[in-house]
This record gives sequence, C-alpha cells and structure tokens, in this order.
Amino acid sequence: MAVPIEDHVDLESLPKEERLARMRHSAAHVLAEAMVELMPEAELGIGPPIENGFYYDFRLPRALTEEDLKWLQKRMRKSLGRKVPFHMEAITREEAAERWKDQPFKLELLSELDDDSITQCTHAKFTDLCRGGHVNHTGELGAFKLTSIAGAYWRGSEKNPQLQRVYGILFETEEELQEYERQVEEARRRDHRRIGKDLKLFDLYEEVGPGHVVWLPAGTTIRRELMRWIEDLEIERGYQHVHTPVVGKRQLYERSGHWDHYQDAMYPIMERDGEEYVLRPMNCPHHIMIFDSELHSYRELPLRIAELADMHRWEKSGQLTGMSRVRIMTLNDAHIFCADEQQVESEVAGVLRLMEEVYATLGLKDYSYRLSKGDPNDTEKYVDNPPMWEKGEALLRRVLQDVGLEFDEADGEAAFYGPKIDVNFKTAAGKPETLVTVQVDFHLPEQFGLEYVGEDGGRHQPIIVHRGVISTLERMVALLIEEYEGNFPLWLSPTQAVVVPIADRHNDYAAEVAGKLRAARLRVEVDDRGDRMNAKIRDAQMRKIPYVLVVGDREAEAGAAAVRIRGGQDLGAMPIDDIVEKLRSERDTKALTP
Ligand SMILES: [Zn+2]
Ligand SMILES: [Zn+2]
Repeated sequence: MAVPIEDHVDLESLPKEERLARMRHSAAHVLAEAMVELMPEAELGIGPPIENGFYYDFRLPRALTEEDLKWLQKRMRKSLGRKVPFHMEAITREEAAERWKDQPFKLELLSELDDDSITQCTHAKFTDLCRGGHVNHTGELGAFKLTSIAGAYWRGSEKNPQLQRVYGILFETEEELQEYERQVEEARRRDHRRIGKDLKLFDLYEEVGPGHVVWLPAGTTIRRELMRWIEDLEIERGYQHVHTPVVGKRQLYERSGHWDHYQDAMYPIMERDGEEYVLRPMNCPHHIMIFDSELHSYRELPLRIAELADMHRWEKSGQLTGMSRVRIMTLNDAHIFCADEQQVESEVAGVLRLMEEVYATLGLKDYSYRLSKGDPNDTEKYVDNPPMWEKGEALLRRVLQDVGLEFDEADGEAAFYGPKIDVNFKTAAGKPETLVTVQVDFHLPEQFGLEYVGEDGGRHQPIIVHRGVISTLERMVALLIEEYEGNFPLWLSPTQAVVVPIADRHNDYAAEVAGKLRAARLRVEVDDRGDRMNAKIRDAQMRKIPYVLVVGDREAEAGAAAVRIRGGQDLGAMPIDDIVEKLRSERDTKALTP
C-alpha cells in the first residue's frame, strides 16, 4: 500500500542551502526522466545534489553528444511549466524488486537498504528509488543548465562498469545562475594551470610524478627574479643565507617532533646500511644544527638564518593542484634566533613590515592576516604546554596591533609547536590558501637544548621565530599568474621585449637593437621568422610580452624602433637609447605598469 511520506513543503521557510539541495535533487529526477525518454534502455545509477548543481550517472547504449545534452535540457525545461508534483511513498521489498528488475544498479542499492526504509519517488511517469527531499512540483526547480558529460565508474571504483555522468548547475534565479557562470569563466580565464601551460612557465610529467613541478625556462626566469629580489631584501635586513641538504636522519626529526606530529605528510623513509633518512618536510632542524654548532653570545642575537630551501610533503594526490598544491617546493624560509621576548616582538614586527613591502611591490591587495592559535584540548596535535601557548599568542597579538594590521583569530590552526600569524589569499577559483606564516617557537629550543651566553654570563634559552615572506616559489608564482592573468610586470616578464624586423633586409639592424637591450641586461628576442609583421605582433601579444619593437627602413635610418606596449598602445618611433632607458627604469623600479 503506497503511503505519502511528506506533505507540502514550505520552501520559503527553509534555509537557502536546504532549499537549493531540494531543488538540485529534484532536478536530477527530472534529468533521469528525460534520459529514459531519450533512451528507454538507460540504466540508472545515482543522481545526487552537489555544490552548485547536480548530476546523474547512467549506463547507456551509446555515447552522449552535445546534441543530446541540448535535447535533455529542453525536455527538462518543459517540465517546469507543467508543475508536475513529486510524490513519495514507502514500498515493500517485493514491490521494489519487481519495479527495478531491469535496473541492476538500483537492485544493488536496494540490497543494502533495510526493509522499512525503502521509499520511492514518482513524478509524471517516472519513478526512482529515493530517500526523499524534494520540492513540491517541477515548477519549483529554479534556474538550471546542463553543463557537461563525463565518464564515471559506478561507485567510483575502476573495477565497476563505466557510466556516463551528466552534470548540471542550478540556482534559485536566472541572475544567480548567470553570476555563477561569470565567476566560473573568470576563474577559468585566470587559472594558473591554463596560463602556465599557454606561456610555457611550468609543466608536470607523469614520469616525474604528480606534484613534482618542472619549471620551464620562462617560469625559471620569474623564479630567479623573485629569488634574487627576496635575498637582496633579506641581506639589507641582516639575514645570513645558508644552503643545507634536503635529507636528514630520522633521529633529527624525532628530536624536532616532526616524526610524531607530522609523519603523515612526509615521504616514506629511506634506509640503507642500517641508516634511516627522510626527505625533509621542514627546514627548521637544519638551521637549528647551524645555530647549535657554536656557543653564541647575546651580542650575536638576533641571529637570522635564511635559505631558499626545498621541502617535501606527501600531499594527498586528490589535493594536488597545478603549482599551488605540490609535493616538492622551495620555501623562502628563515629562522630568527632571539634572546628574549622583546627581541621576538621587534623581529616579528620587522617581518610583518617586510611582508607589507613585498606584497605592495607585487601589487597584491586581496589578502588578510590571521592569528592561528592552538587548541588546549587537543594534546595529540599540539604540544601540551598551556602557558607556552598563552605567552606566544599574546605576543603575536600585540605585534599585529602595534604594526597596525587588521587580523582575525582562529582556534586549532597553529603549528604543532606554537602559534603563528598566517597570511591568507584566495585563489582564482575562490579557494582560500595560506600563503605564508610567522611563528613564535619556545618548543624546539627546548627540544634541542639550545643555549646562548647572556649578559650576566649565564646560559639562557633562545626563542625561535620561523618565517616565510614570499611563501614557496611555487605557490607565489601560481598566485601571481592568476593575479596578473599572465601579464607579468616588466621586471618579472620572461621575455621583456621582442624586436620585429619588417622585412628580411632589416634582420641585421634588428640584431643590433637586440644587442643594445641585452647589454642593459634586458631579456630580448628577435623574431626573424618569415611570417608577416602583423602575425608576429599578434604572437608577441599572445605570449604577453610587454614590448614589441618594430624596425624597418625608416627606423634603421634614424637609429630608432616603433614601440608597441602590450595591450595595444602604440608609442610611435623612439631612439634606441631612449627605449633602453625606459625599459631599464621600468625594470629597476619594479613598476607594475609601463
Ligand atoms: Zn528524490
Ligand atoms: Zn621552521
């Protein structure tokens, strides 16, 4: 006996999220209905609501086409006007087995249900095995669009049959749907993976392994400019640079606590001749070894040890994203060994000011500071020492306030050994990412028994400040690609200018022009291929090269070049010396625009 399970739902009274989930779930039913009409042999998988929409999996006699997608969408839209009610009912196992006898996936789902939880939903002539959660009728589906077809294994396992998945997006109103599509398009346009490929900045190879970024020549140029710049800024601020190996003995990381607190994120151990090594997940222990190799006096503190250091983290393969989430990365790392809390405060303030300067130079605006605290109830994840946490958190809070930065606070986001300040950004896809951190650490000095000789002649324990500024080069470059949409400022552009001779007879002069730019350490190319001039200019624009210098008879005569700026602006003919001076000044001031 069929029993209606849910009467009328008052959609307006529901929270928006639940309302949307119901609309998306109901739309999946309507999609399946349309599919069965298109291909009566269709075998139905599952069709859940997802973020921004829904999907449904089918086994079909043939591959779906774009035309099918259009037909299905049209058919679904027709249902909107018909306002067909969704009707839930409980059925017995026998009834269900009979109804789904030709649907192997449904029978499999059925075999996993308790007898009293078997329900189905019918609208028009279509019925699906379903736990409920619909809108009242098909007139309440909202604004939707079928977006794509993908392959998917039944229940996500390669051992199971492969199905065809139809994706749709769905929002309450047409305006929301369009806004979402606009955001997707914007994210796609700025996506560092796409731009990185187009501009040949970096690549990933299956043979090298997932998450192991290979920097191509153009990307390596950007990387090198950032490295030189940040090292110079650090030298001005009294940092000393070191270079340390990417491996350490297991004992080193046992002592630092990484072995206990961080092992899940480490590469597997390497063992040979009875010795065990790990690829380092962090650089702190190496820098601590350097500090501890001699007895320092308080006069030498704060001691700032910096390194552009490679680190290795076993990120889950599902988490890996282009260059922003990788397994091997180079961090702009430093450890500042401080005598006391007062020194820590002034050092952390210095780091925050350096960050502000660096981000302003790069033109980054959309970031925020967060004070990330421990969790006194979680002694698994965090070192169990409540007074240490309180002291560190209060100190960082004070510095943030003194430097005058706005910040949020968050529990349970600290490093295992101490609280930190995080700098958070959003990726083009809208995902929040922590770019870089500053940490105050009373714990590792204790673990390693670090000491210095104080003014009083006695032995004291230093405090370590861990900090990055430009983050890992991988994450920073991913962020910059998205920020600039590939239009890097001149100082970071892999190729800063291209000289385009109008005809072959101008090739020698073009080479001469390029030579003058190169002498000023500007990165320049000559495009002397046989193509037409306009094609070469277009090509330079596609490659987002900041300057195109066109040379023909008149320019050669005058010792000049016709200057075009990326984006189309035409400056006309300029003497070569002026061009060199203009580009040099734009580079040296790290100007964001010409
Ligand atoms: Zn349903
Ligand atoms: Zn560290």
